[in-house]
Amino acid sequence: MPERSASTLLSRALHLRCPRCGEGPLFIGWFRMHERCSGCQLKYERSPGYFLGSTYINYGQTSLTMSAAYLILHFGYGVPKEWVAPPLAVYCMLWPLFWFRYARSLFLAFDCFFDASDFESDEGGGDESEN
Ligand SMILES: [Zn+2]
Repeated sequence: MPERSASTLLSRALHLRCPRCGEGPLFIGWFRMHERCSGCQLKYERSPGYFLGSTYINYGQTSLTMSAAYLILHFGYGVPKEWVAPPLAVYCMLWPLFWFRYARSLFLAFDCFFDASDFESDEGGGDESEN
């Protein structure tokens, strides 16, 4: 069985690599994913709509960092909220675009960690009636 410790999966996710083998890249471009791993042939989109879960990671990370930045800047350093809000609004629009790939990669790694049985097969664990 391949190495699937939390630290290994986290490292593979942050390097945007396949969670199962760590070899194949997940993305072709900024937003486009490979269908399968070039190293182990794992199908990345495990079922239709699989990556919807990654939006929770993206949204949660963006709102947590934005809230922390607001609290630190406004209450910690006394920056007026009129000065803090516009840059943070821009941050909330741009950061999720940057974080998109990492959110998907982390979601895939979390799924592999918590439900590794689904990652034994090269195919997804979802709707098998397509074939
Ligand atoms: Zn792989």
